[in-house]
Amino acid sequence: MSKHIIADPATGEPVCRCFKRCGGCQLQEAYAGQLTYKQEKAERMLSKFAPVRPILGMEHPYHYRNKVQNLFGRDGKGRIISGIFQSTGQKLVATDDCMLEDERAAPIIRTLKKLMHDLRIQPYDLRTGTGLLRHTLIRTSASAGEVMLVLVTASAMLPSKNNLVKALCKAHPEITTIVQNICPDGRPLTLGTRSITLFGSGTITDELCGCRFRISPASFYQVNPAQTERLYRCAVDAADIREGVTVIDAYCGTGTIGMICAKQGASVIGVEQNPDAVRDAAANAKLNRLSSIRFCRDDAGKFMEQLAAEGGHCDVLIMDPPRAGASPAFLRSAAILRPKKIVYVSCKIETLERDLLQLKKSGYQVTMIQPVDMFPHTTGIETVCLLEYRKSAPAKKHK
Ligand code: SAH
Repeated sequence: MSKHIIADPATGEPVCRCFKRCGGCQLQEAYAGQLTYKQEKAERMLSKFAPVRPILGMEHPYHYRNKVQNLFGRDGKGRIISGIFQSTGQKLVATDDCMLEDERAAPIIRTLKKLMHDLRIQPYDLRTGTGLLRHTLIRTSASAGEVMLVLVTASAMLPSKNNLVKALCKAHPEITTIVQNICPDGRPLTLGTRSITLFGSGTITDELCGCRFRISPASFYQVNPAQTERLYRCAVDAADIREGVTVIDAYCGTGTIGMICAKQGASVIGVEQNPDAVRDAAANAKLNRLSSIRFCRDDAGKFMEQLAAEGGHCDVLIMDPPRAGASPAFLRSAAILRPKKIVYVSCKIETLERDLLQLKKSGYQVTMIQPVDMFPHTTGIETVCLLEYRKSAPAKKHK
């Protein structure tokens, strides 16, 4: 634990100095209390479908984030500061000792701030549109010990580029790749479409559930590796994958869950709309020597509609949509394809509840609900649900 973090004398648990100001965490009660809060919420919203299993919490719920983003600005004295935007406004809050982030990130950011000063690299000012460095993204891999630094700049011109890269690599031999991403406009913390690899391969590789995954700067990748293993294990076990089973892995990202199913003998199609993630997914299939998985770059709803129109089939549908949940077209088509099992991995319990209600109307019964604490100290709840098709849909009530 970082030496700057103070322990609460009553609970012995760490207290973050930035809590409330930065907005990254929303819960700061003792960890056991956080788990109770999440369990109760999951039960309140989902126990009408099936009993909710006890939430899987972390043993050490700190410094779990393998993805760290920092914005840059200047304080009142003109010194370069880094952090994230305040939850309530547009003020940059310095977060030098975040309790959630991988501890390898903060020293790199400290070095970068010093180099920005020495090499006269200006932080980008969102209000005036001047300056260069918009934000940084650091991705770390726990299993392979790799570290990727992405410098997101407002223009391609990066002064003293070679000196900057050399100095960063010298101070931090743990950095395995440095990428410059050019993002001339857009909201804070977004990435532009153009990337230039300044050092290393431009990607990092991580290992989960016995598979290796190559990850590009823009691809989605779960942020809590220890809990992701448990989440994926739970999803794949629920799907009961055997040799020859056909699987659709919808919203597949870099192909992670589908790849684990393919390794167990399933024949898999992964669907994902982010082109970088699809490219990574295809490379990951090769990396893992899997020939029974392929990927389709498409909107998951459109893909399912087309498959349903063609009279397609799958035994198991795995779906891991973003917070907005699945689209009505997706759910309608899932009901037409009628897989025996649907494994729904959700990062937002409100949309999960909405979509489960819809699937229930189409004849599915929820038979397992497992919350997993992927985001300690935040209100986020990740849940795996298993739905199984029951021949007759629930009878309609007559008035
Ligand atoms: N299962 C993956 C990714 C889950 S995150 C994993 O565990 O890593 C959700 C993914 O859905 C993201 O990769 C996002 O790019 C993708 N996505 C969002 N909307 C989509 C849509 N309409 N169609 C297909 N993919 C979509």
